[in-house]
Amino acid sequence: MYDKDNVFYKILQGEIPSKKIYEDDNVLAFYDINPMYKVHALVISKKLCVDFDDFVLNATPTETSNFFQAVSKVAELLNIKQSGYRVLSNIGKNANQIVKHFHVHILGGEQLRD
Ligand code: 5GP
Repeated sequence: MYDKDNVFYKILQGEIPSKKIYEDDNVLAFYDINPMYKVHALVISKKLCVDFDDFVLNATPTETSNFFQAVSKVAELLNIKQSGYRVLSNIGKNANQIVKHFHVHILGGEQLRD
């Protein structure tokens, strides 16, 4: 069950500020507050889903496609396409998912650890 009491919902509502990179009808992308690498961005869905599985099961094919195309566009805006980057999504307890609103991390800007 999606719970609106999470920080990304508040960022979507404009109740908490974020350093915005990109926004369209489907996503909001902004810099992670605690970057793990030189480039660390988050892309969050505007559709209210708890995690990747919730999104994949409940988003329409168009919404799914729009989301991942936006992720690719954000990587382009961040200028990390040439050098390479990582897209990841933490799902649930064993992955240490902290914020229960579907998002992916975009990591890059330097050599990433395995
Ligand atoms: P995850 O849920 O995928 O484990 O991680 C959530 C990510 O959100 C963390 O990397 C954390 O630093 C980031 N984060 C948590 N709260 C905020 C916030 O208020 N603003 C921003 N920009 N990032 C946040």
